[in-house]
Amino acid sequence: MNYEVDEQFLAGALKELVECDSPVGYYPEIHELMERIVGQWGYELYTDRKATAYVRVPGRDASKTVLICAHLDTIGLIVRGINDDGTLRVRMLGGINYHNVEGETCYVHTRKGATIMGQIIHNKHSVHVWEDCRTAPRDEDNMSISIPDCTSPDDVKALGITQGAIVGVDPHYCDIGNGFVMSRHIDDKGSVAALLGELRWLAKTGEKPAFDTIFAFPMFEEIGHGGTFVPEEVEEYVAVDISLIGPDYSSDEHSVAVIASDAKGPYDWNLTNRLIACAEQACDPDKWNTQVCFHYSTDGNAASHAANDIYWGAFGPAVINSHGRERCHIDALAQTEKLCRAYLMGVA
Ligand SMILES: [Zn+2]
Repeated sequence: MNYEVDEQFLAGALKELVECDSPVGYYPEIHELMERIVGQWGYELYTDRKATAYVRVPGRDASKTVLICAHLDTIGLIVRGINDDGTLRVRMLGGINYHNVEGETCYVHTRKGATIMGQIIHNKHSVHVWEDCRTAPRDEDNMSISIPDCTSPDDVKALGITQGAIVGVDPHYCDIGNGFVMSRHIDDKGSVAALLGELRWLAKTGEKPAFDTIFAFPMFEEIGHGGTFVPEEVEEYVAVDISLIGPDYSSDEHSVAVIASDAKGPYDWNLTNRLIACAEQACDPDKWNTQVCFHYSTDGNAASHAANDIYWGAFGPAVINSHGRERCHIDALAQTEKLCRAYLMGVA
């Protein structure tokens, strides 16, 4: 098996994906981008009613259908109220760490289709003004969105901003030139890039996956239910999502990990063992590991917990500073794509 992957493609796709805003539940722009990307290789993208996007690829053996997914949604915010000073109160969509978004640029998507640029600020935003600026809690009761030139609720309403507007956080993408990328939303657009890399490889080489394969791109992973609907014919569900770096993880930013278990419990024994066997064949020996993830779950476990009759597994690229401005090396995306290929081609 040839496990060569195009790292330049992965880097370009990652940039394009993270710079297309797609906070939980806001899908118009990312669906358009995905349709355009896969369309150039002759694939048709279609969506179900909960905004999961799909590409179907016929396999060598049509007796079984497998699904591999990476989620398109990112953590974000939703407007819940408007303060007297024209700032916006919000709730989090997914596991936002407010310490990590203070001062960041954001994009408010109104219900009428406008996008307004704002900034996430602490209500006591300046060390020069408030004694407790540094020590006040960073949470959703103490932080707001400030829109330039808006100082009253009427200013905000004039822009079309209402309760229910969805807010994306600027990725703040930076490629530092030695393979490392710092950006928000590498979770999970790094994995989406790897899956796109495989769709491109299949189209260019004319290779066929072992079984009929559905590439799925859910839109609600960050709030726990992206994977809950599974097309009936699917027997195996593999989620490609970030893996972790920290004291319990023998990992780094160059690596992919097979997730053996997470906050919801273990993944299927046999499928996980097959993914490990795939990693043994496809990945560099020092660039893959297995993990038991904490405070973490994937659409794989969501799919299983929603009582779908499937085998379920997960793997993905390691990122540091997760759910903040994340960082990974292109190696991790390349190793992830190689593991995707081994799984798709049925080497184990
Ligand atoms: Zn994720």
